[in-house]
Amino acid sequence: MSAVVGTALVMELAQMGSLNAVSQTGGNCFWKNWITNGAPPSADTIGRVFSLMEVNSLRPVLKHTYMRLKRNKVLHPAFHDNLFAVIIDGHESSASYLRCCPDCLQRQMKTASGSVIQYYHRQVTAVLLCKDTVLLLDLEMQRPGEDEVAVAIRLLERLFCDYPRAFDVVIADGLYARAPFFKKVVEHGKHVIAVLKDDRRDLIKDVMGILSQEQPVVVKDGTTTRQCWDVEELTSWPQFSEKVRVVRSVETKKRKRQKTGKEEELVSDWLWVTTLPKTLLGTEAFVVIAHKRWDIENKAFNELVTYWHADHVYAHTRTAIKAFWLTTMLAYNLFHAFINLNLKPVIRALYTKSFIASAVAAELCKLKKRRSAKKPP
Ligand SMILES: [Zn+2]
Repeated sequence: MSAVVGTALVMELAQMGSLNAVSQTGGNCFWKNWITNGAPPSADTIGRVFSLMEVNSLRPVLKHTYMRLKRNKVLHPAFHDNLFAVIIDGHESSASYLRCCPDCLQRQMKTASGSVIQYYHRQVTAVLLCKDTVLLLDLEMQRPGEDEVAVAIRLLERLFCDYPRAFDVVIADGLYARAPFFKKVVEHGKHVIAVLKDDRRDLIKDVMGILSQEQPVVVKDGTTTRQCWDVEELTSWPQFSEKVRVVRSVETKKRKRQKTGKEEELVSDWLWVTTLPKTLLGTEAFVVIAHKRWDIENKAFNELVTYWHADHVYAHTRTAIKAFWLTTMLAYNLFHAFINLNLKPVIRALYTKSFIASAVAAELCKLKKRRSAKKPP
């Protein structure tokens, strides 16, 4: 079992994206204690073990990594001296018209040959927002017929249990501006920030009425100018039953068009609802942290999918998909901890992350070559 998980973890660290590739490596290499003393398990064996694995056995390893980093005082909040935030977001990990399992979600898609069923898997992931980096904490898979917010609440319940003091604020997109989600966060003594969208019409209508009578605060941030309004003590969300704060930021960004060389202005209008009081986080800092919600896309999902092959379906069962994702999250955290803490800044500046991952793969492939060279013709 440990050899199978170790082999998968090394495959992730090398960013190989192929069980067959890693199962053909091995020998007396740096990774031999991670893989096995003999030949690495076959791709079929790894897939079968991951399909039968008790996934909860992987989560304590992720937690252990967090605890080590926390104990060594290397995790720093991204936006405040004392407040840590967790970002929650959904991610579709795979989609297919042909391959499915009993736990696949389904949707009708219109194609040139008519309406067809597409099968897919979706998960909700939690990442800890830290200064200059993110730490991947946990995920929960969406079940057929289940709402994404219900999945997020299930994930939150485990986070409150496993990481009770790791974070103070939960940040999420507009889908999560719902009373059950807000209530769940608040009942555990945390705060929540969510994008405010049209489905909270009563609240938006009230806010816009109040804002139209107030002068905005103008904040400059590089080439962006923000006009910010900030209103507290709003009671226009009866389903939530607690007073909320709403922040609006109309942002004008100047950009020079490459083609014409002319300067143009891009305007975007942001609205957030939160339980965080102004006394804890002022308007300017609030807008900066609210925009950090995109870090889960930019720093986590994009990199995980592009370089870590996180969406690859190595074995098509819900357990295997979840177990491979958790292993990839562990590899991502270890890899970034190594780069940020073990490498000197001058070395870090010399090499890309891809180069370092390829060094891991090279170590494995070098030995593969050596073994192949010994084979009789
Ligand atoms: Zn499936």
